[in-house]
Amino acid sequence: MTTSDSTPKTDFIRNIIAEDVKANKNQGRVVTRFPPEPNGYLHIGHAKSICLNFGIAAENKGGICHLRFDDTNPSKEEVEYVESIKADVKWLGFDWGDHLYYSSDYFEQLYQYAVQLIKDGKAYVCSLSPDEIRAYRGTLTEPGKDSPYRTRSVEENLDLFERMRAGEFDDGSHVLRAKIDMASPNLILRDPTLYRIRRVAHHRTGNKWCIYPMYDFAHCLSDSIEGITHSVCTLEFANNRALYDWVLDELKVDCHPQQIEFARLNLNYTVLSKRKLVKLVEQKDVTGWDDPRMPTISGLRRRGYTPESIRNFCDRIGVAKRDSIVDIALLEHGIREDLNERAPRVMAVLRPLRVVIDNYPEDQTEELDFPYHPTDPAMGSRKVPFSRVLYIEQEDFMEEPPKKFFRLAPGREVRLRYAYYIKCVDVVKDEATGEVVELHCTYDPETRGGSAPDGRKVKATLHWVSAPHSIGAEVRLYNNLFVKENPSDEKEGNDFRTCLNPNSLETLTTCRVEPSLADAAPESRYQFERLGYFCVDSVDSSHESLVFNRTVTLRDTWAKIKKAQKK
Ligand code: ATP
Ligand code: MG
Repeated sequence: MTTSDSTPKTDFIRNIIAEDVKANKNQGRVVTRFPPEPNGYLHIGHAKSICLNFGIAAENKGGICHLRFDDTNPSKEEVEYVESIKADVKWLGFDWGDHLYYSSDYFEQLYQYAVQLIKDGKAYVCSLSPDEIRAYRGTLTEPGKDSPYRTRSVEENLDLFERMRAGEFDDGSHVLRAKIDMASPNLILRDPTLYRIRRVAHHRTGNKWCIYPMYDFAHCLSDSIEGITHSVCTLEFANNRALYDWVLDELKVDCHPQQIEFARLNLNYTVLSKRKLVKLVEQKDVTGWDDPRMPTISGLRRRGYTPESIRNFCDRIGVAKRDSIVDIALLEHGIREDLNERAPRVMAVLRPLRVVIDNYPEDQTEELDFPYHPTDPAMGSRKVPFSRVLYIEQEDFMEEPPKKFFRLAPGREVRLRYAYYIKCVDVVKDEATGEVVELHCTYDPETRGGSAPDGRKVKATLHWVSAPHSIGAEVRLYNNLFVKENPSDEKEGNDFRTCLNPNSLETLTTCRVEPSLADAAPESRYQFERLGYFCVDSVDSSHESLVFNRTVTLRDTWAKIKKAQKK
């Protein structure tokens, strides 16, 4: 496999960390964290961050990566999200060991830090309404205005903050703000809110708290409490770094991690934002977070992606400081490459056309030996039955073939994969519709195995299944979820859902697969010869009714793009 798993990785973040280790900064320790907010399932963008943070920890001696739930914002379904996130990180192949944390476990400590800031005259309770706070903030070109509450005494602030905690006030009536600079060119430093009142139960702390810390206050302190050395995050937090450092400096904490930002992953023809993905789920545009069309880890898994292919993809795209959009064809290229190595080859017919071999004995069945893999004999082989009545793919026959169509046509001979040459001698049509419903062919018994002793050639090899031996199956063909390259481009005021692809899912219910698939386990992956890579659906497939998902077709658009670029 063309994997970069074994080659040492370098990028600007790894370089910074290597320098720090060399200089014995943090006594040479490396501690990173992956800090998801449990408000949705993880997507492929998160995989980039997971591979980076867990990867860095693994590459450094004694390195550790924490999994921390950034659960400072109470909401209802968090438990489901927490469990899904843990499962997805594990499935990707990473292990947090004993280092599973929740920001909510630090609520008391964070509260005490806030009290400390008040005592130091660095934070105050502000009683402006949310709208007023916004209006006072100013703009990029205009400085903000001081809140009239900015000069409250330490005693009054301490009293009010304690009563906020005690639940004496309504949501939105007061907030705790940092006292920094309302004229700062960095808007984030214009007395940011540190705490707000929200009378909402929290999935872990229940009703213990009715004030909750804001991200910018909780995140840096959680990092510090856990002894994180390098706090890696995406570029949109670059402006927040000043506040990250301000909070830790003002509180004079022992551990002051270094925040480093990198470019988030963007993929074309999809969206990578939980806010948007949750909409697709809620509006039932997809069947759930794990719908195989979703760019979520669980969706990709159900689609048939391997964890290795996702990790390799993350290695390939690298870590940079500038935003860009990655072609989804690169992700598909990776899984195709991986499955080409490891997926057993089998035969399935998606849109069956009945073929009767007129000169084949009616009561005869042969067991032909088929290798599972063309170049990997270790994968072994299986017996595939051949009989008088077969199915081939409808699109492999044309009654009046145009020039470059080399497959089956009246009077023409083709090869059935690993079996025999057959020749079409008659076409049966539905009288009413004129549709071709059955072909009559003859076979040449001398061509068993797929080659003619007299050396005559055929121009096409078709896949097939024996009609009486084959098993019915449902096959789901997936295409891009969106028709536009950048669905998030809402310039024209368009909702991203307006460019959903109406043909993102095509369900075929009359497919026939070879009998060896009868016992296929959920999630097992195959190449259906000539069609693509498919996997057994983990949710809807059963022994009685098989369901396959198409992971990816055989056509490699990425290889084409590369070729075109070379030219
Ligand atoms: P979303 O925008 O999808 O809601 P988020 O940033 O709000 O994502 P978090 O749960 O806060 O989601 O993210 C956890 C970590 O994953 C953060 O460190 C974040 O920077 C990182 N991350 C999120 N999206 C991406 C992405 N597209 N590429 C790389 N890293 C990402
Ligand atoms: Mg976020």
